[in-house]
Amino acid sequence: MQRFQLYIDGAFCDGEASFESIDPATGTAWAYMPEAREADVDRAVESAHRALYEGPWPGMTATQRGKLLYKLADLIAANAPRLAELETRDTGKIIRETSAQIAYVAEYYRYYAGIADKIEGAYLPIDKPDMEVWLRREPIGVVAMVVPWNSQLFLSAVKVGPALAAGCTLVLKASEDGPAPLLEFARLVHDAGFPPGVVNIITGFGPSCGATLGRHPKIAHVAFTGGPETARHVVRNSAENLASTSLELGGKSPFIVFADADLESATNAQVSGIFAATGQSCVAGSRLIVERSVKDRFVALLKRKAEAVRIGSPLDMATEVGPLATARQRQHIDALVERSSAMGARIVTGGRVPEGEGFYYPPTILDCDGVDSPSLVEEFFGPVLSIVSFETEEEALRLANDTVYGLASGVFTQNLTRAHRLMKGIRAGVVWVNTYRAVSPIAPFGGFGLSGHGREGGLAAALDYTRTKTVWLRTSDDPIPDPFVMR
Ligand code: NAD
Repeated sequence: MQRFQLYIDGAFCDGEASFESIDPATGTAWAYMPEAREADVDRAVESAHRALYEGPWPGMTATQRGKLLYKLADLIAANAPRLAELETRDTGKIIRETSAQIAYVAEYYRYYAGIADKIEGAYLPIDKPDMEVWLRREPIGVVAMVVPWNSQLFLSAVKVGPALAAGCTLVLKASEDGPAPLLEFARLVHDAGFPPGVVNIITGFGPSCGATLGRHPKIAHVAFTGGPETARHVVRNSAENLASTSLELGGKSPFIVFADADLESATNAQVSGIFAATGQSCVAGSRLIVERSVKDRFVALLKRKAEAVRIGSPLDMATEVGPLATARQRQHIDALVERSSAMGARIVTGGRVPEGEGFYYPPTILDCDGVDSPSLVEEFFGPVLSIVSFETEEEALRLANDTVYGLASGVFTQNLTRAHRLMKGIRAGVVWVNTYRAVSPIAPFGGFGLSGHGREGGLAAALDYTRTKTVWLRTSDDPIPDPFVMR
C-alpha cells in the first residue's frame, strides 16, 4: 500500500500514528496516512509562527510572494492529472470532475498571485497639522485551515491563495477522509520554493488534530469548511485563543423553476446541482421548488435523466456518478431517505442501497408535496433531491427562504423583472439565475445563516487575511507640549 507523509517545517515526516485510507469504489484500504496528534500539531504551528517572524518570508516583497504563488500555480497545472487521480482514488469523486476542477484550481492561485502586490494600505487626511498617519495592512498571523473531504484542493486554494498573498503563514489540516491529494500537494509547495514553515500540511482526526490546531495559542485565524456542528466546536475553541474565524458550512439550497423557464436547460442544471459530485457539494440544489403547472413535466424529464446517469468506477472518464466518500456518509443518506419516506415522501426514483462493493448510492428523487419531510430540512450531502411545488411567486420565495441555511440558490425563469425580485428576496450568499454551480476566483462565495460567515474568492478574501496597523508620525521638531493633555 502507498504511504503518505505530513509536511512540517519544510520537511516530510511521519505522524505520531498512522491510519488506513479506504478506496470508496471498493471499500478496501489502499494507503497509509500519517496521523498528526497534539505534538505534531504543535510542531507545525510553531514552525509557521517562526516562519512568520524569522527567516526569508517576512523580508520578501509582496511581488516576490506573488511570484512564488505563480510558480505554485504552474506546478498545479502541470501535475493536475496526477493530483486528480489521487483525489478520485481517495474520495471517489469522479475523474471527469477532479481533472477539470484541479486544472481550474491553478487559476485560483494565479488570481491570488496577482493580488499579492495589490493589497494596499492607506494614508489618512488626519485632523492634526503636525502629524502624518498611515494604515499598514499586515498579515493577520498564523492561520489554521480545516477542510472536509470533498474537493480538498479547491477548498484549500480559496484559503491558501489569499492567505499567502497577504503574507500569512499557515497550517492546513486535510480531512481524515481522503487526505491524499492535499498531502501530495505539499510536494508542489515544496518544489515551488516556499521557505520552510510558511505552509505546513497535516491530517488527523477532529478532536486530536483539528481541535488542537484550532485552539493553539499561536493561531490568529481559523478558516474552516465543514458542517455546522463541527463549526460550533471551532467557535467554542476559539474562545481560548480568541482567534477570528471564517466559516463555510452546509446548505439546503433552493432550486426554483417557473413555468416559463427553459425546462430542458433547467433539467440539466438541476442534474448538475444535485447529482454531480454524487451530491457531495455544499451548494447542492437539494430542494426543487417547481411551479405546479409544470411539475409533472419537469419531474418526468428529471427522472429520465436521473435514471440514465452512468454510475460506475470514478476512475472511468465516462462515469457520471461515483461512490460516496465514506460508508458513514452512505448510512446517513440511507437513514434520512428512510425517515423521509416513513413520513410520507414518495420515492420517484432511486432510494435504495445497491448490491456490490463500494459506497454507491443511486440518484434519488423524493416527491415531498404536502409532506412534512425531514429531507426538505436536513442536509444529505448526497444525490437526493426533494421536490415541492408552488402556485405564486410569493409562495416560491417563502419556500426558498424556509431554511436555517443560506448558501446558494437557483432561479429559472425567462421573466427578467421576476428574476430581479427573486435575486433580491432570496436569503442566500449566492443566487444563480438560469445557471447553477458556477464559480470563479474573481467572485466571492459564502453563506448566510447556518451556512456560515466570511467570504472566499475575490479581492476582499485576501484583505480578510490582513489586520491594519495605524502608524502616527509627528513632523514637528518642537518639543511635545503639555504631556497631560491627549493629543
Ligand atoms: P466535518 O465538519 O465533519 O469535518 C470537516 C473538518 O473538520 C474535517 O477535517 C474534520 O477532521 C475537522 N474537525 C472535526 N472535528 C473538529 C473539531 N472539533 N475542531 C476542528 N476541526 C474538526 O464535515 P464533513 O462531514 O467532513 O464535510 C461535510 C460538510 O462540509 C457539509 O456540511 C458540507 O456542506 C460542508 N461543506 C461546505 C462547503 C462550503 O464552502 N460552504 C464546502 C464543502 C463542504
